Amino acid sequence: MALTAQMERYLQESHNDAKGIVKALCGIPAPSHHEEKRARWCEEWFKAAGGQKVYVDEALNAVCEHNVTDDNDVVVFMAHIDTVFPDTEPMPFVEKDGLFFSPGVTDDTGNLASLLIAERYILENRIQTTCGMVFVANSCEEGLGNLKGSRAIVARYGRRIREFVTVDGTRLERIVNGAVGSHRYRITVKTEGGHSFGAFGNRNAIACMASMISTLYSVKVPVDGESKTTYNVGVISGGTSVNTIAQDAEMLYEYRSTSRKCLLEMENMLEKVVEAYRATGIGVEVERIGDRPCTGEVDKAAHDALIEKARASIRRVLGKEAYLASSSTDANTPLSMGIPAICMGGAVGGKCHTREEWLDPESLLDGSRLLLDFMTNYFSVKG
Ligand SMILES: [Zn+2]
Repeated sequence: MALTAQMERYLQESHNDAKGIVKALCGIPAPSHHEEKRARWCEEWFKAAGGQKVYVDEALNAVCEHNVTDDNDVVVFMAHIDTVFPDTEPMPFVEKDGLFFSPGVTDDTGNLASLLIAERYILENRIQTTCGMVFVANSCEEGLGNLKGSRAIVARYGRRIREFVTVDGTRLERIVNGAVGSHRYRITVKTEGGHSFGAFGNRNAIACMASMISTLYSVKVPVDGESKTTYNVGVISGGTSVNTIAQDAEMLYEYRSTSRKCLLEMENMLEKVVEAYRATGIGVEVERIGDRPCTGEVDKAAHDALIEKARASIRRVLGKEAYLASSSTDANTPLSMGIPAICMGGAVGGKCHTREEWLDPESLLDGSRLLLDFMTNYFSVKG
């Protein structure tokens, strides 16, 4: 259903509020696992918008339930409040040439603002819906947050979740319909080390680790014609001084894949490499620090129907054709459990995960139009 004149008027009148939400939230630091303050802010916002049942859960998700009974089906809408930046002091916010600049301003603050504006229409007007709606400003989407927020929501509502939509990214016409799964590790290599001159000949942990990295990089990723699999060593450290044979060295390693089977193959490969190095007598410790699931057994017809609704809204509101993509988002969690899920866009921006990140604040109007148009699919009375 298209947006009504009343909805369109509401959205235009709310455009400044959307910008205000972005400014307010950018002023509240929220590294993954430390989203308390932003969660409280969103809790207050949901209450002010007319939310009847609003709470912050143990995972630091701010949750607002609309028309949720003890056992009805629900649709979940979420956008994350955490940022990749560890800062605990407010980060700079600059307005220049019609753009907003601030770390996290698009990912995911701008998207959240568009979503909150769309949700407020439903709360304020007490819209009757065909299923319960669960609105979430969620924690721990980024990095080692490990999707803790979306995991808590999926664990709580389980099979009652009919459909799941997360709002993230930098483009309005993108629909993420596939999950990129990943495993992340801290791998530590230990040797006897010693004085660089006196103990020359002893094994050097840095040299061993360098060799291990070469081995990992000689691996051919699984190719099945459908999926994509990648790997990366992102950080290395180790050693003591220039005249010490290094006793330990450490790397952060990850592999990713859109296929469960390929992810498993990479896991087996890593085990073999680690075993081979251990067999030479050096110490190798492997700690898994991240685990994001791939898509599981999702009913194709139900998933396609959800994607089609998003496509239709993108066509109606933006006059554009959507494009599909796979990515690692909060939709990984429901997808891994067979629940139809997608990620939509609510804001236009760029340079995410850098301190030069920007947002086009004017895009929030189309973002909230798109999301409210999509939500009308769940309205009992159309129009
Ligand atoms: Zn994000």
